[in-house]
Amino acid sequence: MKRIQNFIDGEFRPPCSGRYIEDVDPATGRVIAEIPESGAADVDAAVAAASRAFESWRRMPAEERSRLLLRVAELIEENFDELARLESEDNGKPVSLARRMDVPRAVLNFRFFATAILHAETRAHVTDDRALNYTLRQPLGVAGLISPWNLPLYLLTWKIAPAIAAGNCCVAKPSELTPLTADRLAALTAEAGIPPGVVNVVHGPGAGAGRALTAHPKVPLISFTGGTKTGADVMAQAGPLFKKVSLELGGKNPNIVFADADLEQAVATSIQSSFANQGEICLCGSRLFVERPVYDEFLGRFLEKTKQLRIGDPQDPSTEVGALISEAHLRKVEGYVALAKEEGGEILAGGKRPAELPERVRGGYFLEPTVIAGLDCSRRCMQEEIFGPVVTVTPFDSPEEAIAYANSTRYGLSSSVWTRDLQKAHRVAAAIDTGTVWVNTWLLRDLRVPFGGMKESGVGREGGFDSLDFFTEAKNVCIKL
Ligand code: NAD
Repeated sequence: MKRIQNFIDGEFRPPCSGRYIEDVDPATGRVIAEIPESGAADVDAAVAAASRAFESWRRMPAEERSRLLLRVAELIEENFDELARLESEDNGKPVSLARRMDVPRAVLNFRFFATAILHAETRAHVTDDRALNYTLRQPLGVAGLISPWNLPLYLLTWKIAPAIAAGNCCVAKPSELTPLTADRLAALTAEAGIPPGVVNVVHGPGAGAGRALTAHPKVPLISFTGGTKTGADVMAQAGPLFKKVSLELGGKNPNIVFADADLEQAVATSIQSSFANQGEICLCGSRLFVERPVYDEFLGRFLEKTKQLRIGDPQDPSTEVGALISEAHLRKVEGYVALAKEEGGEILAGGKRPAELPERVRGGYFLEPTVIAGLDCSRRCMQEEIFGPVVTVTPFDSPEEAIAYANSTRYGLSSSVWTRDLQKAHRVAAAIDTGTVWVNTWLLRDLRVPFGGMKESGVGREGGFDSLDFFTEAKNVCIKL
């Protein structure tokens, strides 16, 4: 069995505790690796290495940093097949999805920020002929980067690339449930020639290594992606130390289909936005609202496609729905299906474990794509993030009602609106309280746009120059003329 080590100061090291925890393949239920059970001492060592490396990394010309990041992108591409397989094995996602989304996005993240730093400008202005003001944007030092299990490599690179491109060094704490691609990435950064200490990866549980990082006095900046409850703890740790914090948290995203929409496209994309990655994407449209005149037609077509989805071995290239991340998570999602029934909901599809599965994956954590109707918007299943292949469907009668439904949760991450009426699209988009509104599409990502959530879906924006702003500090220089 593979035993993974921490990556600190350019070398792989065992945890100070000497203890390891198991990493399970969710498709088979079998242990596939052991990872360090790191704690404060490991984080201390990583922060010390990063602080030392910062002194020279921050002074390296942007062009050189850019060249090194581009080399990391190339190496990810050269190891494409292995990374896609590892991601699928570790997370349970279909390998086809890892090949289509996770690994290409990791490449793009490095390329994007490697070149963005070559085009960044800062502000300058003259104050009434009396003074010249200009802004320096400088890296802060050691960035603490904490990422979740649902898009392990995709989200880790979304943090590491801008952090080090901007001149910081980093200590990354990937999810303990999906450590494999982070481990490979660490090795690839070294192979690319990134100096020791610039990228450090400390594995282990959130309560140990994660908390030690957010509470570390020499880490002035935390970029966290994960659950809303954990985000509150990160904020509580980081607040008294006045850290710069970016929180990308949970969602309960509305997907609104108006009667004038292109139904074929709306159905096809809604299947993706409901069930891609087993519904374990923070941006999944887990609440579907359909205008009443087309409700029956939409639902009929949606259910037909839902039942056609191929669920099975994630390593099979034809599989469309893989395994949920863990047994505990499967039970949690099943708990919500049971709750939906108690709340008066009707299960129109799925709601149970698949009866037939290929031999290899019979011990895995699978749930059929599930569609629930008949729930009031105030019900827990319509309010809480389920984070599985479960979508609710609700009819509505007017744009105002759709907007009210959309805004009726404590979350505000993303939304989709389907209509051919441009006026209506603009009006509804402006009225929905989410950080992103997609019109006639879903998950169409442009790395330049601000990304983040409103309300309890997060604090701050990352993406493009917003990321570079987050990973640097603005300093005004005022010169008397
Ligand atoms: P989680 O909050 O349990 O864990 C996220 C990370 O934080 C892990 O690395 C974990 O080890 C660490 N952690 C746990 N407790 C910690 C603590 N007290 N201090 C510091 N770190 C700690 O989330 P998860 O279950 O891994 O991921 C699923 C959640 O992430 C969902 O809610 C999903 O919506 C959210 N998510 C949000 C986005 C976004 O961009 N908004 C993207 C992906 C996932």
